[in-house]
Amino acid sequence: MTNANSSWASERVRPEQINKYLDANGDDFIPDGSIERQLTDKNIISAANDKVRVRDIVAKSLAIQTLTPEETSVLLNVSDQELWAEMETAAGTIKKNVYDNRIVTFAPLYLSTVCINNCQYCGLRASNDSISRGVLTLDEVRGEIEVLAGQIGHKRLVVVYGEHPKSGIDYMEKTIETIYNTKVSIKNHAEFETSIRRVNVNAAPMTVEELIRLKDVGLGTYQVFQETYHKETYRALHPASTPKGHYHWRLYCMHRAIEAGIDDVGIGALFGLYDWKFEVMGLLYHAIELENRFGIGPHTISFPRLEPAENTPLATESKYAVSDDEFRKAITVIRLSVPYPGMILTARENAELRKSLIHLGITQTDASSNIGLGAYNKAKGADFQESTRQQFILGDMRSLDDVVREFAQMGYITSFCTAGYRCGRTGECIMDSLRTGAEGKFCKLNAVITFREWLDDFATPETKAIGEKIIAAEIEELKVKVPKVFDTFTDYYSRTAGGERDLYF
Ligand code: SAM
Ligand code: SF4
Repeated sequence: MTNANSSWASERVRPEQINKYLDANGDDFIPDGSIERQLTDKNIISAANDKVRVRDIVAKSLAIQTLTPEETSVLLNVSDQELWAEMETAAGTIKKNVYDNRIVTFAPLYLSTVCINNCQYCGLRASNDSISRGVLTLDEVRGEIEVLAGQIGHKRLVVVYGEHPKSGIDYMEKTIETIYNTKVSIKNHAEFETSIRRVNVNAAPMTVEELIRLKDVGLGTYQVFQETYHKETYRALHPASTPKGHYHWRLYCMHRAIEAGIDDVGIGALFGLYDWKFEVMGLLYHAIELENRFGIGPHTISFPRLEPAENTPLATESKYAVSDDEFRKAITVIRLSVPYPGMILTARENAELRKSLIHLGITQTDASSNIGLGAYNKAKGADFQESTRQQFILGDMRSLDDVVREFAQMGYITSFCTAGYRCGRTGECIMDSLRTGAEGKFCKLNAVITFREWLDDFATPETKAIGEKIIAAEIEELKVKVPKVFDTFTDYYSRTAGGERDLYF
């Protein structure tokens, strides 16, 4: 590391923004020892074999209540296949009750691939000389938006930054502003313009002051994954000499985000670094801590699974690699233990597996994803990966059109709605409507309007034909479910079909 980079790195972690959250003994909210004990406790294991007990716990999830750690350990220890099948059905029912049959799509956009950290599993780690790196210029960012918004039809992005002085808060502000301000012409209707309407951020933990600046440029959800909640493993994978080596700086970044006024926060764990059951418990403890302290749980939970990366042996040799079956169980228990947040399944997973996991409660997925720097413009949205230019290798390179069509065939409506965030339905306010199911019904109106918009602007004829069937069925349902606003809906819908854009409730 150069002297300038190392002095920047040494100032990243601010102990005063962590210590106030620790308890009197300096402990945090992840009790490693008791999680390990709970997962192997004899009483828990016998409860996991008791169908009545397991069904009682599932009934609590179905009532959209967060489970306790003990209840979650019971579910994680279930061995009966019939009970697992019931738990999967319940996970899907919860999703339907909270979010209805809507699914949201987004694209990841890597803005920088420089990084001062040395996470052992990541292709972008500083010590990996096999990767060619860079930082997009603002013109290059506009070029990416032309493809993402203008050709593919994305309305939401998650922008990703490595931790580096070249892509610090000043760069983040400029790039996010550039993304929102870039208006591009639309593929099927060159006479209309569109833009990205929601920018989520996945970046290193930041200070409260930096997070306030991110909020001010209109960031959507702030996502930071703890990677592993297991402290010993965390220490082994993240050198102490780097900012990421500080477990507590990362663990409390959502506390700082909420302090900064950002109330949509996304937590996650990278599955495959340590025991998957421990990570599910870690996510639960994190959600409980945020709920208890701030009255706001996580807006989303992510569960990326370790993928191969250039010159990165750990990514393929981890002894904690998670099988497809274990992954499926992890997703099911996450949905049951924290029933209200969005759940994100990414294109790290292959198309077939993604299809088989969607019904377990997934609410968001990426599509047309390209994670090389500047890759969207270079590839113009086509299937394109270059392992020496990206963090890891994706499993599903299908286009957004393909993914939307598959969802429509499965009975899901892809929602391009970003209204909730733009009219303040976030944080604590949205928590109540999620728990009562009100959000699902309300958002359906916007889902139908934005789906109409997307079908006209971007869909291939084949996808459009299948999409029309979904729209027709949804309109019939809305007539019955929301009679009071149905006339206004019909007005917005026909104006959208006639070419007006961005109408929402
Ligand atoms: N540099 C920021 C950070 O570490 O928080 C930005 C996020 S990083 C670019 C996005 C996420 O990718 C990481 O938090 C990690 O969970 C995940 N990731 C890293 N290496 C991976 C790999 N080999 N396979 C799958 N996911 C990986
Ligand atoms: Fe850097 Fe993030 Fe990769 Fe770690 S996971 S090396 S912080 S880009």
